[in-house]
Amino acid sequence: MTHFIDGAWREGNNGSFDVFNPATGEAIGQAARGGRAEAEAAIAAAVRAFPLWSASTAYHRSALLYKAHRIMTERAEELARLMSTEQGKPLKAARNEVRYGADFLLWYAEEAKRIYGETIPSARADQRFMVYRQPVGVVAAITPWNYPVSMITRKLAPALAAGCTAVLKPAEATPLCAIKMFEILEEAGFPAGVVNLVTAEDPAEIGEVFTTHPDVAKLTFTGSTPVGRMLAAKAAGNMKRVSMELGGHAPFIVFDDCDPVHAAKGAGLVKFLNTGQACISPNRLFVHRSIAEPFIATLKARTEKMKIGSGLEDGVAIGPLVNEAAIAKIERQVNDALDKGAELVCGGSRATEGDLARGHFFAPTILAGVNEDMLIYREETFGPVAPVILFDNDEEVLERANDTHYGLAAYVYTRDISRAMKMTEGLRFGIVGVNDINPTAAAAPFGGMKNSGLGREGGHEGLDEYLETKLAGFSI
Ligand code: NAD
Repeated sequence: MTHFIDGAWREGNNGSFDVFNPATGEAIGQAARGGRAEAEAAIAAAVRAFPLWSASTAYHRSALLYKAHRIMTERAEELARLMSTEQGKPLKAARNEVRYGADFLLWYAEEAKRIYGETIPSARADQRFMVYRQPVGVVAAITPWNYPVSMITRKLAPALAAGCTAVLKPAEATPLCAIKMFEILEEAGFPAGVVNLVTAEDPAEIGEVFTTHPDVAKLTFTGSTPVGRMLAAKAAGNMKRVSMELGGHAPFIVFDDCDPVHAAKGAGLVKFLNTGQACISPNRLFVHRSIAEPFIATLKARTEKMKIGSGLEDGVAIGPLVNEAAIAKIERQVNDALDKGAELVCGGSRATEGDLARGHFFAPTILAGVNEDMLIYREETFGPVAPVILFDNDEEVLERANDTHYGLAAYVYTRDISRAMKMTEGLRFGIVGVNDINPTAAAAPFGGMKNSGLGREGGHEGLDEYLETKLAGFSI
């Protein structure tokens, strides 16, 4: 029973599907195959719950979010182990994600009490203006598999804080993490219908309901740009509010004034985080020609030491990819680059030694001599491949870094303050890390420009996404 609708766990009418461990190929559980009927039932429950929930005090909503945070923190280890098993990331990274995910419950428990309105002076002596912030209504949420816990709280915590009710559909690869999260929300005591979960093997039917149902006020989506674009177009036809957290193609720029060894350590950590399956993963490493040698040597030495395997094994840095399609995409990009003259520094093929043959593993890879003609220069890789590109001057690298339809994250390594400021201001990306590989936090706005999306999650901006502005004019 894996749909959570109107405060109760339900089976649905369409049977269930298997969920697999990507490191071993073993089935580890099942989730119900939801479709139109379950999505509509969940929306109806959210509609019924909305009047009471939206009228409840901010202090009440805050208290429940605090409680959910406490329960999630108590269950952190259980959640992290499930995440490693279902999604594949190393246990240490899974623990970090649980902490990051829990931070959203805490931050929005606090922010719920700070949804302030405004009074505006009028030109008329007998008039008063008041601006209210009110919840948008029923929210439909779709989340990806790569961060299967934190993407849920990054959406639900601000929606609930704002007074919205919600229906969430998790990715088909990671429904078990979503179920565990909803058990936590159930235990926290959110009233029936306030939060609803519908699992699905085929997401299209539910996407159709979420984008067309007259009672859905807002769609919030995290996933790939093509799917986000299609859903946003449908939602626009029905005048729904949308937030879109989509793909990225992050430049990682290493200037000649920085320590190339330090920069290479940072590049290795952020590139291979979650086996490269992160929307903020560097996809083009621009390195100044004069320091290319020590940078590549350090990155190579560290990459070759990375242990590949199941996330639950000690010392593993590189977990499995999500599925065979991911391996095929990486192989295509690597082979295309090599055919067009790139140099293979290390890795370059899938890893199949011993038990690795059972899962979807790809050796962490570095390509040097990458250029604009290669697929990897433009396409999001979503895998453990670090493409290195050399540059000679600041203007050139800024122009090349911005030469992408994506605009999520960018990284700059420099010790020159003026250069750091010019780059930060010139990069057309929603997030810029300056000598910093983790420029994210529940308190900070996360999101992209251009084809990387619309809107922001986290921070006070993340709450605005779930609020409508209402103006009241009083004649006294
Ligand atoms: P995806 O677009 O295939 O799937 C994401 C979600 O959309 C899943 O829940 C999936 O079931 C659902 N979906 C797919 N087709 C649908 C349809 N027709 N109707 C309704 N729902 C549908 O993406 P993915 O491969 O799961 O995730 C990886 C992508 O997500 C990458 O591009 C990555 O950059 C992006 N991502 C972005 C962020 C961010 O915050 N910007 C965070 C994580 C991942």
